[in-house]
Amino acid sequence: MSDTPSRDWQDSVQFVRGVGAARAAQLARMDIHTVRDLLLTLPRRYEDRRFLAPLRELRPDEWSAVQVEIVKAEWMQPRFGKGYVEAVVADRSGRARCRWYNAQYVRDQLAPGERVILFGKPVLRKGGLLFEHPEIERIREEDDALLHAGRIVPVYPLTENLGQRAMRRIVAAALETYVPSLSDPLPAATRERWKMPELREALRQAHFPAARADAVRARERLVFEEFLCMQLVLAARKHQTEHEIKGRSLQPTGALREKLLAALPFELTAAQWAALAEIRTDMARPHPMHRLLQGDVGSGKTVVAACAAADAIECGTQVAVMAPTELLARQHVKTLETFLKPIGIRLALLVGSLDPKEKTSIRAALSDGRVQLVVGTHALIQERVVFKDLGLVVIDEQHKFGVEQRGRLYGKGPQPDVLVMTATPIPRTLAMTWYGDLDVTTIRELPRGRQPIITRVIGERLLPKAYDFIRAQVAKGRQAYLVYPLVSESEQSDVKAATAMIEELRAGPLAGLRLGLVHGQMPGDLRDRTMERFRVGEYDVLVSTTVIEVGVDVPNATVMLVENAERFGLAQLHQLRGRIGRGMHKSYCILQGHPNTRDAWKRLKVLEETTDGFRIAEEDFKIRGMGNLLGREQSGGVVLRVADPYRDTAILEQARQEAFRLIAADPRLRESDHAAIREQARSLFRAASPFVKVG
Ligand code: ADP
Ligand code: MG
Repeated sequence: MSDTPSRDWQDSVQFVRGVGAARAAQLARMDIHTVRDLLLTLPRRYEDRRFLAPLRELRPDEWSAVQVEIVKAEWMQPRFGKGYVEAVVADRSGRARCRWYNAQYVRDQLAPGERVILFGKPVLRKGGLLFEHPEIERIREEDDALLHAGRIVPVYPLTENLGQRAMRRIVAAALETYVPSLSDPLPAATRERWKMPELREALRQAHFPAARADAVRARERLVFEEFLCMQLVLAARKHQTEHEIKGRSLQPTGALREKLLAALPFELTAAQWAALAEIRTDMARPHPMHRLLQGDVGSGKTVVAACAAADAIECGTQVAVMAPTELLARQHVKTLETFLKPIGIRLALLVGSLDPKEKTSIRAALSDGRVQLVVGTHALIQERVVFKDLGLVVIDEQHKFGVEQRGRLYGKGPQPDVLVMTATPIPRTLAMTWYGDLDVTTIRELPRGRQPIITRVIGERLLPKAYDFIRAQVAKGRQAYLVYPLVSESEQSDVKAATAMIEELRAGPLAGLRLGLVHGQMPGDLRDRTMERFRVGEYDVLVSTTVIEVGVDVPNATVMLVENAERFGLAQLHQLRGRIGRGMHKSYCILQGHPNTRDAWKRLKVLEETTDGFRIAEEDFKIRGMGNLLGREQSGGVVLRVADPYRDTAILEQARQEAFRLIAADPRLRESDHAAIREQARSLFRAASPFVKVG
C-alpha cells in the first residue's frame, strides 16, 4: 500500500519495501542506488506466462509454463556420468519429470507437497515429458504468484544472490509505492506530438506489460525521454553558442590565405573550398564558431585548417592547435610548418618534454604575441598558457574530449572560434551525441588522382608471399611500410624485440633491401632522421612498431604490410592504411591476421571490402560498443540508463528533432510547461548542463 503520496523517486532504493541493507548492497553492484535507478532498470526480456497449461496439454519442445505440485525430489548419482536431481511433479491432469544436472542444492528447494511454477521446454523421454533445468518459482501467497506467472513476466539482469523473483517483487513494490505520485516531465505538447504514453503508464508497462507491444512502446517512451534530456542540453548549448555567447568577428581580406594557396603544389578540391567557406562564414559571425571538420583520412583536412589559421592570423589574432598526444603534436607542427612558415607565420611547439626554460620562453612569446601559432597537447595549452589574443582553437580530437570539457575550455571575455577535427570519420550516432552541439562540415571527396588501395587479409602462411611482393614493388622503385605491433610487458623488451626482428628481416625475407626502423622508445631526433631518410628514398622499407610513427607523407610508398593486424582497431588500421595511396601509383595494403581468432578475422575482412572510412568507423563503433565511448569519465556525467544510441538511433533522431524545436521556441526552457523537463535534463546531465550558466 502506498502511504505518503509524495514520495520522491530519487529516494534511496532502501526505502522500497523488502529492500534491506543486504539487498541494497546487491542492487548497488548493478549501479542501482535510487528508486529511479531501479525503475529504469528494464527487463532484459519477457516471458509469456499468461497461459498456465495443464500438464497433459503440453507439447514437447515448446516453451511452457505450468503450475504443479512437487511429488518427490531425489538426488541421483549414476555409477558413470553426472549426478542430477530428479523431481516428479503433478497437477490434476497428469505428471512430468524434471532434472537438474550437477545441482544437488536444487533438491532442498523442492519440498514434496509444495506448489511451484515451472517454466521451460519439456522433451519427450520414455513416453513422458521431461523438463531439463526448468526455471522454478515457488508460490507462497496467491498475490505473490501473480507476479511470476499468469502474465507476461519480466526477466531482469541480475547479480549474485539476487534472483528473478526477488527482483520482480522489489520492482513491483517500487511501482506500487512510488509511481502513483510521479508526474510526467514531458511537456504535454511533446507527448501529444509523438504519441507517447504517460510516464506512469510507461513504467508499469515496461515492467509488467499487458501485451508485448505495450512493453515495446513503454520502453520507447523512456528511451525518448532520456535522449530528449541529453539533446536539450546539446541544443541549448548550441543555441547559446550561436546567439548569446560573445565571440569575435574575424573578417580577413584573405590575402595571407591566398599566399598560402598559391604556394601549394595542388588545387583545393571543391569539398575543401566548401568547407573553407563554411568556416569563414562562422568566423565572421560575432559569436564563437563551434564546428566539427570531418573527412576521411587523406581528404585534406589539414590544409583547410591551415587556411583557417592564416585567416585568423591575418586578423591579428593567435591560433592554438591542440593534439591528444605529444607525438601527434610534433607531427602537426611539422605539417603546418610546411604550409605556414613560407608565408611568414611564427609557429612554436609546446610539449611536456621541452626543457623548462624553453617552455617559459614560448609562454612569454605567446603572451606578448610574438608566437602566432602554437601546437601542443591539450593539457599544456589548456592549463597554463596566457595568449595575447587567442582567435582560433583547432582541436585534433580523437574522441578524447567530451561535451562538457569543450564547454569550459576558455576563460572569460569573447570566446575564440573552435574547429574540432576528427582523425576518423564519425558515425551518425556519435555526431548526434558526443558531437551533438557542434555544426558539422564533412569532406566527402578525396583529392583527384588517388588510386584506390587494394587490401588483402592473409594468414601467417602467406607471409613469405607478402615479403616477395614487397621485394617486387621495391624492384620497381617503390617503397613499403612494415607495421609490427609489439606487445610485451616492458618497453625495454619491446625495443629488443624490434631490433631482433629487423635483424631477422635483414638476414631473411628482406635481405638486400635497405631497412629503416622506428619504434616508440626511440629518441625523437633519431626517429625524425630515420623518417626523413625514408622520405627521401634512402630506405626501401620502413619498419615501424607503432601506428603513430608512420605520420609521414611519402607518395612513393605503395605497400603496407601490417602483421598481427587483429591487434589494431578497424578505424586505426584504416588510418594507417591512409599512409599509402598518396601518390600516382597503385597501392596495396596487406593485413596479416591470426585465423584462430575468428571474430578478428571477420572484422579485418571489412577493410578488404571497403575504403569508406564512414562505414569502417560505424563497424568499429558497433564492435566496441557505445559504452566505451560514452563512458562515465569521458562523457562528463553523460550516463544513459535505458537508451542505447546504437539500437535506438531512430528514437534518438526524433528526440533530437524535438529538442531543437523546444529550444528554438524557448531557449532557456522558461515556460512553465517546460520546467519539469528542464529540471530533469539538468539533473541527468548536471556537468554538461548549460541551463544555469551564462547571463
Ligand atoms: P587528412 O588530414 O584529411 O588525413 P591531409 O590534410 O593530411 O589529409 O592530406 C593528405 C595529403 O593530401 C597531404 O599530402 C596533402 O598535402 C594532400 N592534399 C591535400 N589537399 C589536396 C588536394 N586538393 N589535391 C591534392 N593533394 C592534396
Ligand atoms: Mg592530416
